[in-house]
Amino acid sequence: MLCPNCKSKCNDEWKFCPKCTMPLPQNKLLTWRRKLKTILLFGTAFVVVVAFFTHAIITDLEKNTTKQDKAVQTTKNEETPKQQKTSSVSSGPNNITAFVMAKEIIRRSLKDPSSAKFGNITEAAIEKVDGNINRWRVACYVDAKNSFGATIRTWYAVQLLYQNDGWHSEGIETINK
Ligand SMILES: [Zn+2]
Repeated sequence: MLCPNCKSKCNDEWKFCPKCTMPLPQNKLLTWRRKLKTILLFGTAFVVVVAFFTHAIITDLEKNTTKQDKAVQTTKNEETPKQQKTSSVSSGPNNITAFVMAKEIIRRSLKDPSSAKFGNITEAAIEKVDGNINRWRVACYVDAKNSFGATIRTWYAVQLLYQNDGWHSEGIETINK
């Protein structure tokens, strides 16, 4: 095309005449095509970034789940020898195993389990419920990151029932103070 001002030869894609700096009339199809190219480029980049982060998050979640499963298994394995040794009426759950299981149950419900710092057993309230020797209530606190990344102290109470096949959670109560 020719510049409407100085009549010098200009490329269709140029916005200004390089000789006289006069703005050139824009070919609408070309402008539209350029916009589409930009949208496609950013769209593709966005999809790639989202896919990358989704993959990273899923991998992280899978890792945490495996860790927790291992922790629960370890707890169970530790219980077995104790029970075999005592093999009396007093065999079965105790304050310590109830406290450890309550922590694992709470850990699994956290947004960021790796950030969790639990109150220790001396700070916990551990009691039997309903006169049932296998039903426990464990109350304590955990400091952990919430979905905004802020560390929040949550007081929890977990009711647990111990049966032949292991521990069962009967309910969780939590309070953010
Ligand atoms: Zn010109």
